[in-house]
Amino acid sequence: MDFEFEAVIGLEVHCQLATHTKIFCSCRARLSDETTVANIQVNSNTCPICAGHPGTLPVLNRKVVEYGIRVGLATHCQINQSPVFARKNYFYPDLPKGYQITQFDQPLCENGWLLVENGDVSRTVRIQRIHLEEDAGKSVHRTGFSLVNLNRAGVPLIEIVSEPDMETPQEAGAYLRTLHSLVVYLEISDGNMQEGNFRCDANVSVMRHGSSQLGIRTEIKNLNSFRFIEKAIEYEISRQVEVIRSGVGVIQETRGYDSSKNSTFPMRSKEQAHDYRYFPDPDLLPVKIDSDWIEKIRHSLPELPDQKRARLMNVLGLSLSDAELLISSKFLVEFFDEVVQKSLLVGVELQCFSKAAANWMLSEVMRLRKEDNIELWQSQLRAFHIVDLVRLVQKQSLSHIQAKQVICIAWKTGQDVSSIVDQEGLKQWNDLSLLEPLMDEVIRDFPRQVAEYRAGKDKLLGFFIGRVMKKTNGMANPPLLGELLRKKLM
Ligand code: ADP
Ligand code: MG
Ligand code: ZN
Repeated sequence: MDFEFEAVIGLEVHCQLATHTKIFCSCRARLSDETTVANIQVNSNTCPICAGHPGTLPVLNRKVVEYGIRVGLATHCQINQSPVFARKNYFYPDLPKGYQITQFDQPLCENGWLLVENGDVSRTVRIQRIHLEEDAGKSVHRTGFSLVNLNRAGVPLIEIVSEPDMETPQEAGAYLRTLHSLVVYLEISDGNMQEGNFRCDANVSVMRHGSSQLGIRTEIKNLNSFRFIEKAIEYEISRQVEVIRSGVGVIQETRGYDSSKNSTFPMRSKEQAHDYRYFPDPDLLPVKIDSDWIEKIRHSLPELPDQKRARLMNVLGLSLSDAELLISSKFLVEFFDEVVQKSLLVGVELQCFSKAAANWMLSEVMRLRKEDNIELWQSQLRAFHIVDLVRLVQKQSLSHIQAKQVICIAWKTGQDVSSIVDQEGLKQWNDLSLLEPLMDEVIRDFPRQVAEYRAGKDKLLGFFIGRVMKKTNGMANPPLLGELLRKKLM
């Protein structure tokens, strides 16, 4: 950005938890019924509790607390063993009770951190707090009137609040991607950003370089795409720098982001900010969380992205970039892990096999995925295909070109590798009696190259191998040909 100013960014992330039922009642936590996704049945998943009828009592969903603890442990937070639910009072048509149940001064988790890799720079971003709360309903605005759908009211959320530890839009983007992949790996949220199930408010301020006092911040509300978050922050930083330069100064306010104009606009200022009058919800006792339960949850945590990356690199010998690419999709890396697991049953050299398998998955499989525009799990390809294929290539029974053909067929039909090889006549040509005459032909047809080779131009060996390969339609085994040709040309 600017040489004179530096930016300070802190993020508040709302993430919808993927529990079956809502946080304080037994209604299904689904916005629409799966049977009528296109035609949402409004207000179908509601009851007197989540519809806010007076006199009803909330009952806490244990799963929500467990999911919150999972995220807390994965982000190195302290788990508060008696968190308190509080009422946050405000009026809005989609909030029938007149208050939201959330956590205030005693949240579930506090004082954690997340390691964020942004290119070559890695940074520890501190997590201030993670608390549990209920979502509100949804207003649907039509011309002349509005409707309220309470299917979302009472759906569980966690809010994850960072310390103002980030300095660039890219770093904020990297933090969010890391956090997003964490909640997906933890299986506590579907992380669907289009539907707003993982959304973020970005707090941004700027200050002169080296200053020890943070500048006045603005908060950009409800950003729900990684790209827009980075763009919104970038815009907001340059806007604030300009406002400060012009002598006016930044005012503390809440702003929105308009992606079509790529700019932020004011929504409400500090003076208009609500006084929520938080107080402990008398209908809910402080939650008691015993240490045994926390330990049980700790032991049940799956392998997380950082640990996966380290294992892929240190145990399986993959490069950082291959490991990153695999990890970028939970399904992809789980598929890869299944390939490696299956390969252990048939006895392979682990690192050598893993590297080859990763190569096939990141090149051919990704290419097929793009070409057919479907996900890996929608194809017919299974882990055993990759295991068989890599072994045949390593035994040199299948050439690279043939292996590509096999993957392509397995992707579409799901047939066994061995039956594809038989059916397509893909046995590699290792038969000397067939290769001999072809090599002789090549040596006869290119006397000049033969002379040069014999005079010391070793590089030409590849030329001869290529010529013979062509005569076999790519079916021969190049290393074997190399050996044979070298002897013949001596
Ligand atoms: P509020 O409850 O009004 O949103 P908080 O004090 O809880 O206020 O802070 C919310 C977020 O703002 C946190 O993520 C924090 O890191 C961030 N933040 C606080 N001060 C600044 C600042 N000067 N610049 C940028 N972000 C800030
Ligand atoms: Mg805030
Ligand atoms: Zn309900």
